[in-house]
Amino acid sequence: MSLTRRRFLSAALAACAAPLFAQQAPALLPASKGRRVVVVGGGWGGLSAARQLRALAPELEVVLLEKNPSFFSMPLSNKWLAGLVDEKLLTHDYRAAAQAFGYLFIQAEVSAIDRDRRRVHTASGTLDYDWLVLASGIRHDYAAWFGDDRRAIDAARTRFACAWTPGGELRALKERLENFKGGELVMTVPPPPYRCQLAVYERALVIGHLFKARAVPGRLTLLDPNPPPQRFAEVFEEQYKGRIAVLPHARVKSVDPFARTIATEFDDLRFDDAILMPPQQAGDLAWQAGLIGRDAEGKPSGWAAQEPLHLHALGDERVFLVGDLIDRASPLFGHYPKSGHLAAQLGRIAAREIAARARGAAAETQLPESRCFVATRMAPLESMRVDTQYRVRGDGLIVQTTKQHADFNPRGEDLEWAKGMFGELFG
Ligand SMILES: Cc1cc2nc3c(=O)[nH]c(=O)nc-3n(C[C@H](O)[C@H](O)[C@H](O)COP(=O)(O)OP(=O)(O)OC[C@H]3O[C@@H](n4cnc5c(N)ncnc54)[C@H](O)[C@@H]3O)c2cc1C
Repeated sequence: MSLTRRRFLSAALAACAAPLFAQQAPALLPASKGRRVVVVGGGWGGLSAARQLRALAPELEVVLLEKNPSFFSMPLSNKWLAGLVDEKLLTHDYRAAAQAFGYLFIQAEVSAIDRDRRRVHTASGTLDYDWLVLASGIRHDYAAWFGDDRRAIDAARTRFACAWTPGGELRALKERLENFKGGELVMTVPPPPYRCQLAVYERALVIGHLFKARAVPGRLTLLDPNPPPQRFAEVFEEQYKGRIAVLPHARVKSVDPFARTIATEFDDLRFDDAILMPPQQAGDLAWQAGLIGRDAEGKPSGWAAQEPLHLHALGDERVFLVGDLIDRASPLFGHYPKSGHLAAQLGRIAAREIAARARGAAAETQLPESRCFVATRMAPLESMRVDTQYRVRGDGLIVQTTKQHADFNPRGEDLEWAKGMFGELFG
């Protein structure tokens, strides 16, 4: 999308938000007796920030705002699609977590952030903050394919949803896969950076596995702007020849969700069903609040710009950015992996920063780490663990070290990891 179009969209969003700011909307809560931190987004980053804030700064009031009624984990959701993980493990109750850790939970969708007044707006009222933790995750940039064609965007989003964010799409995808009778299923892989990159290939494996197990006469075609990682390519070839096809270096040029066609630079495809995953960006609120960074050419980077060691927004020390919505962490490697593990660590670090600042002190610099488990083969099960660590170099830049560990005999290490994380986030 052109810069002019993006500016137009940002201006349109701001225009939508402007009347909200002007309204005398009621306050969601009585004025805080002390100081208040509002956390927007009850995902991995926001939940961790809320919990840690209560532990590190019990003098602060902490309010978590989340639009969904309950939490559903994206980590392990591929295994859930395959019927290998119980839904109970992945679903958690926000109110119970708030009670366990002593913060307030309000189910509400934030429509706008007024940074001048330090106020967030929801349909039911406003909430003032001393510090804001924005952890509202990502959005799918359908405009990159459809411009402002609302009909096409709605058709792609509703009929061919990619189910890559928490919410109802995942359940609908499970049903679609269960009801798929055969034919061509296409899945588009977005250009990086995107949330949990290896999970796209894991999802392809799960679909190949389901087709094979149920003898579905179907083929999954993966349109990938990159070549798939070697281990996945090998297993696709060995175990799912004819069931999974990969078109590498395939950049989507156009999509017609009504005629069910996709064009890349090299191929035109017709599909019976599709998992359409457009490029990813920081979610709407980061755009509305004017928090999006700029790339080297001065265009919007698509991600929320932050001070990489202290996590506040560039130009606004009252707003902390946590999780997948953040921009590049270092010119040496670009983005942190967009993982739940890392988002939770950023939540913890932001909480330390706010707790220190609330006392007029400075927090010691801490860097996150990431750990991700991904199945690389379904039958027999094999998996890979990817660990990523960070340190600050002499010149102040963050350096990344990544290690991959193949596991040919996994014994539920991913489940143990998830249980540990859910324990931290929900008590
Ligand atoms: C298939 C799949 C598998 C994955 N596997 C792993 C894995 O094994 N390990 C791992 O570490 N990571 C994994 N991830 C990545 C992980 O899910 C994300 O990195 C993580 O969810 C990011 O956390 P977050 O807090 O930034 O965003 P999210 O978890 O998306 O949370 C954002 C929250 O904000 C809420 N929100 C958004 N807008 C508003 C609004 N306006 N008002 C109120 N609330 C709002 C959303 O409802 C959501 O609950 C996987 C992801 C996928 C898709």
